[in-house]
Amino acid sequence: MDFTLSEEQLMIQQAARDFARNELLPGVIERDDAQKFPFELVQKMGELGFMGMMVNEKYNGSGLDTLSYVLAMEELSKVDASASVMVSVNNSLVCWGLQTFGTEAQKAKYLSRLSTGEIIGAFCLSEPEAGSDATSQKTTAIDKGDHYILNGTKNWITNGGSAEVFLVIAQTHIEKGHKGINALIVEKGMEGFEVGPKENKLGIRGSDTHSLIFNDVKVPKENRIGEDGFGFKFAMKTLAGGRIGIAAQALGIAAGAYELALKYSKERKTFGTEIANHQAIAFKLADMHTKIQAARNLVYQAACEKDAGKDYTLSGAMAKLYASEVAMETTIEAVQIHGGNGFVKDYHVERLMRDAKITQIYEGTSEIQKIVISRSVLKD
Ligand SMILES: Cc1cc2nc3c(=O)[nH]c(=O)nc-3n(C[C@H](O)[C@H](O)[C@H](O)COP(=O)(O)OP(=O)(O)OC[C@H]3O[C@@H](n4cnc5c(N)ncnc54)[C@H](O)[C@@H]3O)c2cc1C
Repeated sequence: MDFTLSEEQLMIQQAARDFARNELLPGVIERDDAQKFPFELVQKMGELGFMGMMVNEKYNGSGLDTLSYVLAMEELSKVDASASVMVSVNNSLVCWGLQTFGTEAQKAKYLSRLSTGEIIGAFCLSEPEAGSDATSQKTTAIDKGDHYILNGTKNWITNGGSAEVFLVIAQTHIEKGHKGINALIVEKGMEGFEVGPKENKLGIRGSDTHSLIFNDVKVPKENRIGEDGFGFKFAMKTLAGGRIGIAAQALGIAAGAYELALKYSKERKTFGTEIANHQAIAFKLADMHTKIQAARNLVYQAACEKDAGKDYTLSGAMAKLYASEVAMETTIEAVQIHGGNGFVKDYHVERLMRDAKITQIYEGTSEIQKIVISRSVLKD
């Protein structure tokens, strides 16, 4: 595959790199400590077109391809994975889902504001008893004619406290199993909708993760996405693309840690020479560089397949599985290369190591990616 970037793609990459360095880097340690992310930064990302990258210009989006989105995700994630997960959820799950499967009225009402960073969205599938086993939905959306009555709890919802629009997956026809599931658009402030306390996390601490509680929430029928019973398919199709975004996040975390380790290895001296001159360190850098490039190829391949209208389920799962492994390995080695300095916050690599872990868990754990991949290869 030819991954030569166009002028436009190079410009987007540079814009994301500049934004990350100039706007995200200052305060990233403090945001991680305080578990906060000021909404003004989301709005700035919106102004630069990062919140609705693949959304049609008709709905205030940037009208770009998936590869451009992946390039931006990589650059933002090098510096602040909390920012990039907000970008990822809003772009690949919420905006893409609405643009692809929403009605004109839904797009007009929500998409235009989500694309500009005026508001942010959340994707709500996981529950206390339904994570990897997403078919075990206990949240119910009972059909009451012109509306649904929504009851249940969602867990681990990214943007849970800051979002205005929530795409909620719920069971309508229990007897039909996953074919009886619907996806509903829920708005912040609807009666009976409560946001639980913020989770105190290992990594991506700037991103707000909450449980959500629905107590007899009345959701109008026009807020259903797709046909009756389309909800599970909606979630799976949306997540297949979401994985490309998370794979790009993992790639960025790995590349960010590698860049810091490379720089440090040329500055820090032991035994009268820069540590890069010790073969043990040089070989670590060689391994990191090789694996990051391999991960990048997988991520770009998945993005290009999506842009070409091909089935990207397999390539997306491979990209996420591999890039998240590389993120974990690379960040651990980056901490090692920094020695004691790697263990303190000022050098950024310990944060990147903590942030890397989530890429092996959310939007399908590594084990689930292996199920997707093995099913695909065994089918052939
Ligand atoms: C910070 C954060 C943000 C998140 N954001 C969102 C969000 O915005 N929206 C949302 O809906 N969800 C979100 N999630 C939830 C996330 O997607 C789930 O945590 C994830 O899918 C795993 O589900 P679980 O936690 O229930 O683990 P479980 O499903 O209980 O899995 C536990 C372990 O068992 C393994 N396992 C399970 N089943 C199998 C199997 N069949 N074969 C082999 N191994 C298996 C898993 O891989 C894992 O290692 C988020 C989670 C976190 C931590």
